[in-house]
Amino acid sequence: MIVTTKKDFEEIEDALKSYNNIILIYCGTCSVTAQCSDEKSVNEMLEHLKNAGKNVVYHQEFKEPCDFRQDLQDWRNVPQEALDKVDAFLILSCGAGLQGMLDLFDRKNIVKPIFIGLNTHGIAETERIGRFHVKCAGCGDCLLNYTGGICPVTSCAKGLMNGPCGGQLDGKCEVGNYEKDCGWILIYERLKKIGRLDLFVQLRPAFNWADRGHQKSVVFR
Ligand code: SF4
Ligand code: SF4
Repeated sequence: MIVTTKKDFEEIEDALKSYNNIILIYCGTCSVTAQCSDEKSVNEMLEHLKNAGKNVVYHQEFKEPCDFRQDLQDWRNVPQEALDKVDAFLILSCGAGLQGMLDLFDRKNIVKPIFIGLNTHGIAETERIGRFHVKCAGCGDCLLNYTGGICPVTSCAKGLMNGPCGGQLDGKCEVGNYEKDCGWILIYERLKKIGRLDLFVQLRPAFNWADRGHQKSVVFR
């Protein structure tokens, strides 16, 4: 799932400061699991908005804001009366959700700003509700075949490609004051365990960060 956390309301209030009539949209999928767009979170946000003097003219769950097909269906429920009044939209979703809505706005000729209420952290394993571990940053060039299945992008603070930097100490990472494991020591230990240290000594080319994620689409013909 895509893991999100709630932004401080002060930041949201600042983004909305020039707008009074708000439509609140909330994701019905990952952000619910992350407890950022569940019923309690939505009610909290409605309360915050009310206390900040905002007029919420309408609010609605969109099942999967990152899915344009679903958005087209969910949009049918948004009343024209609310659209006539709205100054700005606020969405509780990941960053892809908001940008999915932008495409929908273009399709529907909606020329209003939309702001985000959550921070997006990455693709995560769910240990239990409220405990998520970000395992993948969606780099598009998966290295797990060479690293014993442990992602260097998300497990190494510097996203290094060829083993630990000089900052590791007793298997701990200098970033964050030696509280977290060094990702590359984890990778080494895993490769050792499965008898594949030959992979550890292979030189991996530097990532080409130059155009990584640059308006990237994945298109199957
Ligand atoms: S290397 Fe890491 S960030 Fe890249 S696709 Fe694989 S798991 Fe995801
Ligand atoms: S100590 Fe390990 S995890 Fe930390 S930045 Fe260096 S290589 Fe990466």
